[in-house]
Amino acid sequence: MTDGKVAIIQNKQEASSIAKKKLVSLLQEANYTIDQNDPNIVISIGGDGTFLSAFHEFEHKLDQIRFLGVHTGHLGFYTDWRDFELEELVSNLSNKQESSISYPLLDLQVKYRDQKAPKRFLALNEATMKRATRTMVADVYIKDELFERFRGDGLSVSTPTGSTAYNKSVGGAVLHPRINAFQLAEIASLNNRVFRTLGSPIIISDSEWLTISLEESSDYMVTIDRATIQHDDIEWISFKIADERIHFASYRHMHFWRRVKDAFIGEV
Ligand code: NAP
Repeated sequence: MTDGKVAIIQNKQEASSIAKKKLVSLLQEANYTIDQNDPNIVISIGGDGTFLSAFHEFEHKLDQIRFLGVHTGHLGFYTDWRDFELEELVSNLSNKQESSISYPLLDLQVKYRDQKAPKRFLALNEATMKRATRTMVADVYIKDELFERFRGDGLSVSTPTGSTAYNKSVGGAVLHPRINAFQLAEIASLNNRVFRTLGSPIIISDSEWLTISLEESSDYMVTIDRATIQHDDIEWISFKIADERIHFASYRHMHFWRRVKDAFIGEV
């Protein structure tokens, strides 16, 4: 079966432009059409950051698209093909059966004080909430029940595939992407006799939801993967595992923990 229509998203590196040129010609030889608007395969060329951009460009069509990442720098978590393996990549695309690999996404509902209905976003890596100048104060609810009052720099909520990104830098656990759950990690929480939070990351199941209710303030910064929303009237943000998932084409079943070791530890 040929999937037909392929969109290619690349970063600005010269190696990515060279790889794109070669890939386009290999795909056309194999009877694929390059279609940047209505593809059923999206190939990103660059790093994990480029892959995040490709995901968000097509996040409204997730049910019809399979993604694939080519890396032109170091091995990534979403980019598992190298730029010198493009012939193999194209022949894999043509010969292989539909890939069944898919991973969880985060569903965010952002409620602004001046709007009735919350606005919906999807995150592939994570969302963070930070306050720019003063201590962020936020009530954390799990399944609508108050869990803790957080004071500190901010909070990060990540997917399993995002657990190796920002989440890891703030002390979150690395989660295998086959686990259908999401994670809340603190960013420099204030903990003393007066203020108390759990002080450790928590993993939340796919049947639960988390709501972070923010104290009224004009200087919050909310990030969703590569994007930043600077908004002064966010009332609360709720999180759950999304109904949609990201599907991969010709995914390489590299042992997840080997990938983690390659990225962060190297040779022992
Ligand atoms: P960036 O600051 O240009 O790159 C941040 C780094 O995070 C890059 O090395 C990127 O890999 C890597 N990365 C992205 N997703 C990853 C994942 N799932 N697992 C492991 N590493 C990952 O930012 P960007 O390119 O716009 O990407 C945005 C993402 O960067 C955010 O979602 C956030 O997770 C991450 N980030 C992390 C920190 C931190 O750890 N302190 C700070 C800012 C942003 P590539 O080089 O392959 O692109």
